[in-house]
Amino acid sequence: MFKKILIANRGEIAVRVIRACRDMGIKSVAIFSDADKYAQHVRLADEAYNVGPAPSAQSYLVVEKIIDAAKQSGAEAVHPGYGFLAENAGFAAEVARAGLEFIGPPPEAIEMMGDKMAARRAMIDSGVPVVPGTEKPVKGEEKSIEIAKDVGFPVMIKAAAGGGGKGMRVVKSVDEIKSALRGAASEAKSAFGDDRIYIEKYLPQPRHIEIQILADKHGNYIYLGERECSIQRRHQKVIEEAPSPVVDSKMRQQMGEAAVAAAKACNYFNAGTVEFLVDKDMKFYFLEMNTRLQVEHPITEMITGLDLAVEQIKIAAGEKLALKQDDIKISGHAIECRVYAEDPVDFLPATGTIRNYREPAGPGVRIDSGVYGGAEISVYYDPLISKLVTYGKDRSQAIARMERALAEYLITGVTTNLSFHMKLLEHPEFLKGNLSTHFIEEHYKKPDELSNEHHLAIAVAAALDDFKNKNKALSFKKGDLKKTDGNNNWKMSGRPGVTKAL
Ligand code: ADP
Repeated sequence: MFKKILIANRGEIAVRVIRACRDMGIKSVAIFSDADKYAQHVRLADEAYNVGPAPSAQSYLVVEKIIDAAKQSGAEAVHPGYGFLAENAGFAAEVARAGLEFIGPPPEAIEMMGDKMAARRAMIDSGVPVVPGTEKPVKGEEKSIEIAKDVGFPVMIKAAAGGGGKGMRVVKSVDEIKSALRGAASEAKSAFGDDRIYIEKYLPQPRHIEIQILADKHGNYIYLGERECSIQRRHQKVIEEAPSPVVDSKMRQQMGEAAVAAAKACNYFNAGTVEFLVDKDMKFYFLEMNTRLQVEHPITEMITGLDLAVEQIKIAAGEKLALKQDDIKISGHAIECRVYAEDPVDFLPATGTIRNYREPAGPGVRIDSGVYGGAEISVYYDPLISKLVTYGKDRSQAIARMERALAEYLITGVTTNLSFHMKLLEHPEFLKGNLSTHFIEEHYKKPDELSNEHHLAIAVAAALDDFKNKNKALSFKKGDLKKTDGNNNWKMSGRPGVTKAL
């Protein structure tokens, strides 16, 4: 087993991997930008290396600096987390070239799954259902119109190289097709340097349901059930749950086997997720494969009892999967709310310093966060504050516990989407499990219908809270605050073997 691992990431996912390392007795190495000098992941890691200025293009995305830090620290493996370089085949290859183990799939698998057309073709060859559409890039506007008519409107125009919602257009009729083609192609050309486009059927009100898989380097594959991720805003997930309220054991097996076939098609190993769209008739279609640990992995951990970050490390170290498909038992229900520093009305990111911070606790509550009171939410990175996860014996207990946890959660100083989650959780259609990727646009009323008095009451409550907290801080007597050496004491107090209190 590895003795030391470098985590090429920041925020909650870096903290998550540091925890897995500590559980396994492995030393962890953090990297950080100038903006993250005091970040939680830096405080918790055993060692930390500065990799440059705040913009990620000059720090978290600079391959040479990261590999340098890994070499200097004596780490034997690199965990990419998610985002940043996690799905960059070039990075995975560079890590290997430097004699280090990449904790993820082989570069060829990342490359193939990163190309939506190549992935689509491989799925068709492996008998995995894909959304009906073209198998080759479309060329010429007239030809594209013919194809779109064949597929049947509405259609979705997608860039082969697309990702993060870029290079994607919904087209409802012939009139819209030319401008959509040009728009998608030029967006894809400038974002990915590749303007290949294809056309597929646009499914009305699909669900997004994905399957977690694990595969080792010895050809063993297992699936760990599904996650329902239909609650999205701007094509990004906000609430996920496992299992899905609509997937029965037969469908789970069919989707699981399709996911394993998808993984086998690219000789995959490590943890991965195969995403599907599911239509009203419960037919599922391959959407894409994410070749990394996903944000929402904790809900699968809760219902299977597995630690996916630990599994990833074991697989990278060459161990065989200890579990067979029949050993995987799903029990209970888990929900995850992504807590963002963002405006709950228009979903725009918010920035600032977290002033007061108190995390919820109690039965069935897990929280993966990368912040603390006094931490900065900057413009440079994703504004995810934490992932609040609850577990219950069934869906209604998990929801009740989530409502309790959201109510207990205190975050002042930055605007968050906690109230948005509360609203969603109490919606009758959510409670019934009637979900689709259009749920938010269909059901979420912007709070602009709130009366003026309501707005005033909210403002007064916020001001009072702020005043109370400021006074609390001022009530310290001078001698109460002992001089400490920067944040070193706090940093050390979180580490095993250090018993000295602050
Ligand atoms: P990206 O890689 O840019 O994130 P995806 O192909 O994963 O794009 O699609 C993102 C989201 O867009 C899906 O979760 C779904 O909500 C919607 N979507 C994609 N393809 C279709 C389709 N054919 N029909 C309906 N919705 C789709």
